Amino acid sequence: MAPQLPSGYWVGPGPLFMELPNLFKIESKKLCMVNERITNGSHGPVYMWDWARPISGGVEQEELQRLINIVSIVTIGMGKDKFKWNYDDSGDFRVADIKRYFSIFNRSTPISSFVWNNWVPKKVGIVSWSAEKDRLPTRCALARRSVNVPDLLCLFCSEHDETGEHLFVSCQFAQIIWQNIATWCKIPSFIAFDFKDILNMHGYNSGSWKKKKVLNAIFLVTVWCIWKARNEAMFNSVQPSVTKILDEVKSMAFLWIKNRSRDETITWENWRSFNIFS
Ligand SMILES: [Zn+2]
Repeated sequence: MAPQLPSGYWVGPGPLFMELPNLFKIESKKLCMVNERITNGSHGPVYMWDWARPISGGVEQEELQRLINIVSIVTIGMGKDKFKWNYDDSGDFRVADIKRYFSIFNRSTPISSFVWNNWVPKKVGIVSWSAEKDRLPTRCALARRSVNVPDLLCLFCSEHDETGEHLFVSCQFAQIIWQNIATWCKIPSFIAFDFKDILNMHGYNSGSWKKKKVLNAIFLVTVWCIWKARNEAMFNSVQPSVTKILDEVKSMAFLWIKNRSRDETITWENWRSFNIFS
């Protein structure tokens, strides 16, 4: 049986205006905030209803009683409002959770996504090819092969185990890099759910085949640069830097793509602002 998703509403199983339509009709401020109607008193919640006219008996009175029953179980905090991820008890957002919930709805992923791109060197493509096949020597992969590793933690965030998928997809550090790449390339920011999404992402964008190919090449270079930064952190204790990785992606991808595509229209100026190909 599929697990039940939480309702996602601040209180009750649905929006209050749908649960209590007759009461909503006489609410004087339809878009009021919770703290305009409920506050904490010394003996429990204090209600500050503001109806357009006095409540009549019958169905309105009945809905008011239901409203009080619904909201009385909520504790109103006095602190600042904050976002909470409702799909996990901790309230923290994790990409892995979305992935888990999508799997409930049988979201399918393509079987294989790797296509060699001749606008980048083979050594660049090999990192993504290996990552897709889970063949990169990450700390978890090494431990699986009984190689002694100091610990399994990711060298970027030190919070989660270092698997290929974590390193390139769900790690906060990687996500900041992908966001920046999306901004630079003027494409909508994306959240990858697994490594295949990174390999397929270029196909979801509109534009010519050249534009798609260049995006794919940039994603492959980004993966290569992330892996390089990870190795520098691991073997030379070099502090990973988002700015350094982004600079490297832009300059290396420019050199390779300009030379290999033999496209005269690419210049460093239009590359930097990504005004290339439509
Ligand atoms: Zn990490």
